[in-house]
This record gives sequence, C-alpha cells and structure tokens, in this order.
Amino acid sequence: ESQKETLGFQTEVKQLLHLMIHSMYSNKEIFLRELVSNASDASDKLRFEAIANPELLEDQPDLRIRISADEKANTLTIEDNGIGMSRQEVIDHLGTIAKSGTAAFMQQLTGDQKKDASLIGQFGVGFYSAFIVADKVEVFTRRAGLSAGEGVHWESAGEGEFSIATVEKPERGTRIVLHLKSTESEFADGFRLRNVVTKYSDHISLPIELPKQHHGEEADKPAETEWESVNRASALWTRPRTEVKDEEYQEFYKHVAHDFENPLSWSHNKVEGKLEYTSLLYVPGRAPFDLYQREAPRGLKLYVQRVFIMDDAEQFLPLYLRFIKGVVDSNDLSLNVSREILQKDPAIDSMKSALTKRTLDMLAKLAKNEPEQYATFWKAFGSVLKEGPAEDFANREKIASLLRFASTQQNDDSEVVSLDAYLERMVEGQDKIYYLTGERYNQVKNSPHLEIFRKKGIEVLLLTDRIDEWLMSQLTEYSGKQFVDIARGDLDLGKLEGEEDKQEQEKQAEAKADLVKRIQDVLKDELQEVRVSHRLTDSPAVLVINEDDMGLQMRKILEATGQ
Ligand code: ADP
Ligand code: MG
Repeated sequence: ESQKETLGFQTEVKQLLHLMIHSMYSNKEIFLRELVSNASDASDKLRFEAIANPELLEDQPDLRIRISADEKANTLTIEDNGIGMSRQEVIDHLGTIAKSGTAAFMQQLTGDQKKDASLIGQFGVGFYSAFIVADKVEVFTRRAGLSAGEGVHWESAGEGEFSIATVEKPERGTRIVLHLKSTESEFADGFRLRNVVTKYSDHISLPIELPKQHHGEEADKPAETEWESVNRASALWTRPRTEVKDEEYQEFYKHVAHDFENPLSWSHNKVEGKLEYTSLLYVPGRAPFDLYQREAPRGLKLYVQRVFIMDDAEQFLPLYLRFIKGVVDSNDLSLNVSREILQKDPAIDSMKSALTKRTLDMLAKLAKNEPEQYATFWKAFGSVLKEGPAEDFANREKIASLLRFASTQQNDDSEVVSLDAYLERMVEGQDKIYYLTGERYNQVKNSPHLEIFRKKGIEVLLLTDRIDEWLMSQLTEYSGKQFVDIARGDLDLGKLEGEEDKQEQEKQAEAKADLVKRIQDVLKDELQEVRVSHRLTDSPAVLVINEDDMGLQMRKILEATGQ
C-alpha cells in the first residue's frame, strides 16, 4: 500500500451511518440488495462507456457479480468487474453524500427509530447499509481504463473516518469485503447466503455467481473455485408479462427506485409499430425526500436494445409525473443518444405522450380497483399531480378525474372526494361544482359562505392546499360542469333558487337599502361595494372577493415572495 491517508466522513454521512445502524436493523438483509444493485449499476456503466471505448473491457468482456463467504474469517465478499472507481471517485462516493438538500433532510430525523427508518427509506440507504451487518468494510477497486497500479483500498469501521491507500489491483472493478459482526455470522453461512442472494438477484440482468458446492471428497481438494450462476440474468422487462411474478416486479422496483418498500402499482408494456419500445413504470408508495426540489434527479432509466444508456432520463414524462420510476428500452434510438438529442427528437415527444397516458391509466386503475392504495398514493403525491392541469392541457380532464378533495360531505379534512363522486351527489337542478378555498380546513369549514349550501344540502369542495387556488385557476370545468368559487362575486345559484327565494331577496334588498348606504359610507376606503346577501343564514356579514380579483391564497403567496 502507498499514499495512505485517513479522512473524516462528511457530517451527513456520520449521521446517516449512525441512524442506519440503529434503525434499519429489522431490515438488515437489505444490505445485500444494495451492494448487488451497485455492482449491477457499475456493470451497466461499464457497458455504456465501452460503446465508445471498447478497450475498457480489457480481456474480460463478460460481466458478472461474484459473492462468496468465508465462515472461518466471518467475512462476506461481493465482487464485480464493472466500471470501478478511481481514488477521487472513492473519496467522493464513499465519503460524502452528493444529493442536494441532504443536510436539511438530516435535521428532520428525530431519533425515533420507526419514524427514522421510514425517513431513511425516502432517502435511500445505499452502500452505507453494509455497516448494518459489518463492523469493518474494505473496498478494493480499480477504474476501467486505469493501470493495475492505480487500484484503491478503502477501509472503515463505519464510525467517524475511513482510510484510503493506493494498491495494485490487476482485475478491473470492485471487491467489497464485509467483516461481519460476530452476531451476523449467519450471512457467512453458505446455505443462508444462497437464500438471500437468490431473493435479491433474480431480476438482475447479469449473472450472479456463487461458489459451486462440492460434495464428498472433492471438497478437500484445494482446487480453484468453480462458480455457478444463481439467477436467470436476463433483463426483466424483456420477459413476457405473464412469466414475471409479482415478487420479481417488486424486487426490480427496489433496484431501480433505490427504495426498500414495495411499489403501489406497475405497468409493463411492449409497444410495436412505428416506434418500438418496452416500458415498465412503477408508482412508488412514498415520496422521496427531495420531491419538491427543483434540481432533484427524476425520470426513467433509459436502455437502448437492452444496453443501459442513462439514469434519470427526464424527457419521457412530464414534470407533474416526476414521482414515477421505471425503465424504458427503445429499439429505435441510437446507442450514442445523449440528453441533448433526446430533447430535440420528435419521436421522444410521442413516446412521452404515450407514457403519460399509460401512467394516467395506471393511476385510474389503481383508484378504481384499490382505493386504499390510491389513498396512500394521493397522500404522497397528490400535491404534485395537482400541477398537472397547468402543465398538460390535453390531459386536463383525465388528471381532474384523479384529483381528490376534502368536502362538506366529509366530517374531517381527509382528501377523499373525487369529482365523479361529487357529480353523483349533485342535487336536483344543480349544474355547477362549488368549491371554497382557504388556508386551513378549520377556517373554511366554518365559513359563513357555506351557510346557504348547508341549508340547501349542496356539497362544497373545501380546498386548503397551497396549490389549490392555482389549480382551480387552471380548471374551468369537469364533465361539462363549471367550477364556481362560492366566495367570489355575486353568487348565482341558478335553478337552485325558487321564484319565492328571488322575490324575498328583492324585498330584503329594498328594505335594507338605507343600511347598505350607511355601511358603504363608513367603510368606503376599505371596501368596493356593500350588498345585501342571501348567502347567509346565521352570520350577519361576509367578505366577498370580486370575480376577477386574485384569490386570498394567491395574494398571500405573492406577498410572501415579496411581490
Ligand atoms: P446510489 O447507488 O444510490 O448512487 P450508493 O450509496 O449505493 O448510492 O452508492 C454510492 C456511489 O458509490 C454510487 O453512485 C457509485 O458511484 C459508487 N459505487 C458504489 N458501489 C460501486 C461499485 N460496486 N462499483 C462502482 N462504483 C460503486
Ligand atoms: Mg446504490
């Protein structure tokens, strides 16, 4: 070893390590999924770089992952011949966390193991999960293209620091040696290991090999290890839907999404014709920590004829569907395709609109068939979907049918009412969809604006999400029924008001004319107009916004941004 140095982990890594070890214990097996997932990514990256630079494959064109255990030493080794890492890459990737917003995220952690485990899930556990089962981890790696003398040896006990040194490493790629805690020796047991590996590897598209098990006298011969593959090593999305088990779809999701919980739903399709491609789209069950960060990575994994091309290809889905994870594999694109080319290619636009439709259909199906799962989806991603009508005019109606609202029909603020359910409950003579926006549920729920609606038994949607007012400025009607903000302008209840109501209102207006004039004189600087209202049954007065004025929520948002 030469050029050995000891470096401290970035603060966030220390926090993550600490939390991981303490809150992920009940999920400890996942370390293997993470390390296999990384080895698979590393092989994908090598294959991709080798398109332009075939020498990178050296004399080892066959990519594979090997996993072996040494019961005596209580170690577990995971080795790939993928892209590997340079010294600087090791320092960057295994010493820091590059995701933006990480520090802010770490501050939300509470010390409560259960809560933190789920928060860490939103963050992704990754390489550091090795320390759930190991008290020392060594990484030997050499980047493809560098010389054998430029290998790197990284070592850490998962506390505050790691050491790094330059070593000789003839084979390209990465070997990770876990020195298992004495309590975790089960993972060094061949039988147990085989079980876990099989569980986490069937969807991986390159061979995963374990030492061949010998029987009888053969075992005594110190021959060279023979390896056998334990997975089918074909890209999961290339297989016919009927031949893929649910568990396989779920495991594959965990690999592409860096999640350790199951997805809510998926949609796997092969498209033939002018454009040929396969897509496998997933709806996650929880939001990532950076869902609302502009620079957060989003998009699908792009393959061209089964060769990995890039992560986070964002050109295939609109922004308001950025929570969707998955893979698209095109037969038509060139292997040299770049982000710039994707942006300009009209074929990509038509794939994007087809994939958008698929996603909306998948959500509609989930809403219809599994309302509870849909409720989970809505809690995690509802606010993002609300960006849809503005971004995607063509699918406005479809998106609207996926929205869920709180309403006067409900006794609490849960967003469960769909527009279709609202339409079904409309009273005789009603031809509009009524809604009220505000900052808090408790405030809108008690609004005097609702009095007339309560009296007449008409449902009103109660919108208190920050984005709602903006959403409603994009939605004018649904299923031919106009949306009406009941806090605005002259409320015309149309056919819902009988002739008697109208005559009564006129009588009242005449009788109150003097009063109205006096109030108007006193408050003339504050108000535009004072009117006798028939909206109220109990309250004496209510403030109303003009038809064309900006809503209160919007005013507040603009004020907050200093406009
Ligand atoms: P993620 O996989 O989400 O990027 P990880 O914590 O799992 O996060 O890994 C961090 C980074 O370390 C990877 O992005 C990759 O750059 C590098 N890395 C991890 N394992 C390997 C490996 N086997 N070969 C090459 N690079 C690796
Ligand atoms: Mg990873």
